Amino acid sequence: MTNTDTMDTRSTVDQIERLAAAGCEIARVTAPSIRDAENLRNIRTMLRDRGVDIPLVADIHFTPNAALIAAEHVEKVRINPGNYADKKKFEVREYSQQEYADELGRVADRFRPLVARCKQNGVAIRIGTNHGSLSDRVMNRYGDSPTGMVESALEFLDVCEEEAYFDVIFSMKASNTHVAIQAYRLLAARLEERTEGEPSYPFHLGVTEAGDSEDGRIKSAIGIGSLLEDGIGDTIRVSLTEDPVREIPVAEKIVQRSLERWARDAGRDLLLMDLPAFVNPYAHVRRKSRRIELADLGVGGGDPVRVELELSDSASWIESNDSAGLLAKSLAKVEGVECESLLIRMEGEAAASGIASFRAALDRVGVQIPLSVRVDAVLLGGDVALPSGCARLVVDVGPAQSQISIDKACRIVSDSAIALEWCFRAELTEIPALVDRVLEAMAENPLSDVAFSVESDGAVHAARLLAALLEARGMGEYPIVLRHGFPGSEDAELRMIGSSIDLGAPLCDGIGDMISVGGVGRPEELLDVAYRILQGARLRTTRTEYISCPSCGRTLFDLEETTARIKFATSHLKGVKIAIMGCIVNGPGEMADADFGYVGSGPGRVTLYAGKDVVARNIAEDEAPERLLALIGESGR
Ligand code: SF4
Repeated sequence: MTNTDTMDTRSTVDQIERLAAAGCEIARVTAPSIRDAENLRNIRTMLRDRGVDIPLVADIHFTPNAALIAAEHVEKVRINPGNYADKKKFEVREYSQQEYADELGRVADRFRPLVARCKQNGVAIRIGTNHGSLSDRVMNRYGDSPTGMVESALEFLDVCEEEAYFDVIFSMKASNTHVAIQAYRLLAARLEERTEGEPSYPFHLGVTEAGDSEDGRIKSAIGIGSLLEDGIGDTIRVSLTEDPVREIPVAEKIVQRSLERWARDAGRDLLLMDLPAFVNPYAHVRRKSRRIELADLGVGGGDPVRVELELSDSASWIESNDSAGLLAKSLAKVEGVECESLLIRMEGEAAASGIASFRAALDRVGVQIPLSVRVDAVLLGGDVALPSGCARLVVDVGPAQSQISIDKACRIVSDSAIALEWCFRAELTEIPALVDRVLEAMAENPLSDVAFSVESDGAVHAARLLAALLEARGMGEYPIVLRHGFPGSEDAELRMIGSSIDLGAPLCDGIGDMISVGGVGRPEELLDVAYRILQGARLRTTRTEYISCPSCGRTLFDLEETTARIKFATSHLKGVKIAIMGCIVNGPGEMADADFGYVGSGPGRVTLYAGKDVVARNIAEDEAPERLLALIGESGR
């Protein structure tokens, strides 16, 4: 989506040209007024003169008349059901059935001419619902919820279908990844009921107001990537508070991951039915698990999702004299978060003493967190001794492992009174048999502090499968570790996006008591991404949360620069949610659950909010960041 002034034809065309060159396939332009809508003609003409034939979308809020004009010049019109012709004053009131029906009838009458025009011109309509910008009518009846978002969209679909118009695409965006995932899933299910098995309408995916830099990318990857893993989604947009051209490679990487998955999983049923029965697709509920202990660290039960670092290339850690000191320095670099557990692979029996020395060295430099040891079950066939100070044994189990080595693992942990994690490493289709073999061994050798994990192709579906298998075999209370090796691409952004999908999607489904990260990257980088993923999946808050709009032609200040200034001054405020929104038209609604809002309200003017309440109206932009800081300070946050 462009963020230029729509009346500035040349700048808008230049930006669309750059977007198209970067790989963008559809460009959206805001049309806040009739004049802007009329100027879409000039934008289109100049684009075509330059040989750029990218489809155009007009973005409409509050101005049905502008939509009618835009429908003459674009391939698609996006309307927001919450503000197309409905009231949005945050009024709390009861609507009688009759009042509700009357308002809906009035809105439908305003919408019908657009449907007729789009039908006549062969133009598509996106019914683009946003969390936080539902109409007062819908909000009062259904709440600001996925259900409200879906009902709001379906009311507009009813009008389209009454007019025998079907060129409709839907979006259900939210800045909260849980809400976005739930709303899209709910709409998919509702549409499936309506179409009774026939192909349904396409979906446009996005996480709105995702912010910028790593957090914006991670949130987008979690929300969009999770839905693509469900098999939902036909077009996507990544919304970053950055130059829109920088959104394109991020979007391409998210899509690339899913296309790889879809190609590999061809023929396999990817859709919602492969969610374990305990997962509610429409509400986040964390899977219940019993608490186990790794030394003093609780995992599962009511404890937060833990973060573990797996030290790759174990020989280099245990053979070097100063590795413990270097690790301590790395861990100290991650501001505001801590590594809670370490995992190291024991390659052979001889490594046990090296690992014990490494443990002792860690203690000396003050890194007194649990150190667990990972082995291949084959190694346990020999006469292996665990290093002293080992907090848990992680045993890799593959199809080639003998039952003897699996039994041996049970006896070793039983004798040493430490925790055990079974990590299944196999093709998805081989996992059920491996789970059964391990459960058979556990029936012979009862153990209590046990966790499970899986490493297979398609991490999201592997985690779901594992959770479902444990549940089905009456072992659903054991903690699950989501293990992720940040696998081998040179592209750090691609690794981050892949990790966000592989870890974020199960976490949003409520699966996962610990995430264990390793592979390419420095320890501090891996941990930083892990905690950002937990925050993006709304499970652990370790930093300030920013909800900033991507900006568009309505934006009333330099959003990127303002966001950077505010972040610089507030990044120490752990847990505080700050919204930075470009315009007063959509900003207050779409900043959803922010604690404080900084919203453009006119050229050079800003309105500040505490929650949904205005606390300073139309103040000068120069003084607004300081006033915001003072406001946060006065609140005691
Ligand atoms: S909130 Fe931001 S992106 Fe949304 S309409 Fe306003 S300026 Fe544009």
